[in-house]
Amino acid sequence: MSPNLLDVDHVIKRFGGFKALNDVSFTLAEGEILGIVGPNGSGKTTLINVISGLYAPDGGSVRFRGYDVRHLGLTGRSRRGINRTFQIPKPFRQLTVAQNVALARHYGRHASMPIEDPLAFLGLAEMADWEAGRLTSAQQKLLDLARALATGPRLLLVDELAAGLNPQEMHQVSEKLLEVARQGVGIIVVEHLLGFVNHLTRRVLVMNAGQLIFEGSLAEAAHDPTVVAVYLGG
Ligand code: ADP
Repeated sequence: MSPNLLDVDHVIKRFGGFKALNDVSFTLAEGEILGIVGPNGSGKTTLINVISGLYAPDGGSVRFRGYDVRHLGLTGRSRRGINRTFQIPKPFRQLTVAQNVALARHYGRHASMPIEDPLAFLGLAEMADWEAGRLTSAQQKLLDLARALATGPRLLLVDELAAGLNPQEMHQVSEKLLEVARQGVGIIVVEHLLGFVNHLTRRVLVMNAGQLIFEGSLAEAAHDPTVVAVYLGG
């Protein structure tokens, strides 16, 4: 039996006495898109940080393609194909757009990439020689995604990509993510904007207070009393 792309198993992450992740388990297959939603402070970004290797979990395990990756940090995971985008991208503003992507590639898998030319793929080729600091915030989000794609990811973690994009940009970027997934890349999309998630996937996890409280489609979530109570502050 081939392993899952990702197995998150009973993960716990504490900050002092506070459990930001409290026994979180789920799996992801190659080419699958999974949405993670939930109120502010529910642990979504912490989960991305634990999977990407920024934080070590205090309990449980993260396995990637069947291997426990707990001994690997950010760079080690990037080299094996786990990469991410950031809620607030921080490109090297004085470097050009192309240089930013080249630098990211350096930390990647050095393998054949599903997306050969991330800048062209995301419509940034014309700006390749611009200083990254000249890009609009929406373009900086695309550059951040281009940098993640340049590492040749097998698992792409996307944190709040849609925020700050207009509806047309949002539609374009979601089409791109669907195309990336069709190349076999597993994608986890953390989002506030439920419409964006709904366009990408029917499989959504809802988090609250560090726990997964629901798994299913957004439509089902809308009728789940626990989820409704959380979203209405009940
Ligand atoms: P979300 O992404 O769902 O908004 P986060 O994962 O950012 O939630 O945060 C979950 C909880 O963990 C929040 O209460 C937050 O204050 C806390 N937290 C996150 N990162 C840290 C950290 N580095 N140090 C202390 N507390 C943190």
